[in-house]
Amino acid sequence: MTLKTREEYIESLRQMKKQVFMYGEKIDNVVDNPVILPSLNAVALTYVFSHHSEHEELMTATSNLSGNKINRFTHLHQNTADLVNKVKMQRMLGQCTGCCFQRCVGMDAFNAVDIVTDRMDRELGTKYNERFRRYLRHVQDEDLVVDGAMTDSKGNRKLSPVEQDDLDLYVHIVSKNEAGIVIRGAKIHQTGAINSHEILVMPTRALKETDHDYAVACALPADAEGVIYIYGRQASDTRKLEGGKIDVGNFQYGGHEAVIIFNNVFVPWELVFMCGETAYAGDLVERFAGYHRASYGGCKVGVGDVLIGAAQAVARYQGTDSASHIKDKLVEMIHLNETLYACGIATSAEGKPTPSGTYMIDMLLANVCKLNVTRFPYEIARLAQDIAGGLLVTMPSEKDFNNPEIGPLLNKYLVGVSRYSTECRQRMLRLIENLTIGVGAVGYLTESMHGAGSPMAQRIMLSRLANIEQKEKMAEKIAGVQIE
Ligand code: SF4
Repeated sequence: MTLKTREEYIESLRQMKKQVFMYGEKIDNVVDNPVILPSLNAVALTYVFSHHSEHEELMTATSNLSGNKINRFTHLHQNTADLVNKVKMQRMLGQCTGCCFQRCVGMDAFNAVDIVTDRMDRELGTKYNERFRRYLRHVQDEDLVVDGAMTDSKGNRKLSPVEQDDLDLYVHIVSKNEAGIVIRGAKIHQTGAINSHEILVMPTRALKETDHDYAVACALPADAEGVIYIYGRQASDTRKLEGGKIDVGNFQYGGHEAVIIFNNVFVPWELVFMCGETAYAGDLVERFAGYHRASYGGCKVGVGDVLIGAAQAVARYQGTDSASHIKDKLVEMIHLNETLYACGIATSAEGKPTPSGTYMIDMLLANVCKLNVTRFPYEIARLAQDIAGGLLVTMPSEKDFNNPEIGPLLNKYLVGVSRYSTECRQRMLRLIENLTIGVGAVGYLTESMHGAGSPMAQRIMLSRLANIEQKEKMAEKIAGVQIE
């Protein structure tokens, strides 16, 4: 099997025995949980679309490991067309879900781990890449969702992992024997973790030699013994428990994050891809972050398309669509959104092969892309709220609209242009609320700020990669400046 169906994906998750907590309680059935379900639907769409002929080019690829047709989310990029198609796929999925569809973290981790393990093998004589590719072949053949687990809880940011008061604040190797290693620690902000089959652990930062126990990359089943998930709560998330379909804004789809705790988890050597090689931790972090920063030039643009559409629609329902300032705001939103896409595509088109054969995105442009993503969605959201008007946050609940006594009154007084029902306006305002204040804002805004690294991380990379000295020399040459 190389392309699972939606049903097979959900059934495979149902068979897993994950330890998941939410709102202080352990939940046994994560697959049918109404709070998690929208995020499961979003991942499931990556399976549905892989079987559609119209999505074949974007959603599938030919594996360089097996020659089989596989889901693009498990692929090692073999050329710039692969990198460009990845971004196009992400925009398309963002347009169809209006949220984070979670599966890119694993894909970006595969490509980063492949490049770095290959480098380690060439320079150190290890066999990590062979191991990793055997593992990835399994992921491709079984069409698995893999949580790329990078971010540690980090404790005191001034201190390195080994200097922390509590040595578990970064995931680390506790012991080793002939069979494998045991790891302990936690990974936070884990996108889609509860919808995943596997976890691919990576270090979270560049490490010093003294931090050798923290230089660990390995894979494990998501329901391995000792792995605990705690669901991250989101603004207005309990609306999903109210039973309606309007007040949630996006009743079908959503994203999720979780804290993962590794409580002395055993990993066999066959699934260990870095074990103490501190000098390579920084490279792995940068490459993963680079890929994921480029990914945002696809997914956030797709969600931006939905928000722009929602702003245009609500303006039409309210009769403001022909006002010149509304048109101008929509043009501004389009400009910002397409600028993000231009960055995502350019980052991919400028990709280059690495010695492993896997293509790497352009690191400088990926950081420009992500730095723009930390700002533009906020401005797009601000303009959407401006166009929507105050009813966005003062509108009564869906239950009030359904009440026989006050519902007709609300429908009478909250109507806009009479040819559109009040419910059209109500639904569209709730979608804008979802994306700019509610559950969806986690993915569209805060994830844009901090996902794949906060803005300062991109600024540091820009200052390192931009070659300012070369630009200075260009200017001096043209200006005829000669310095003795
Ligand atoms: Fe994919 Fe975007 Fe979600 Fe990252 S934030 S997993 S790139 S959809």
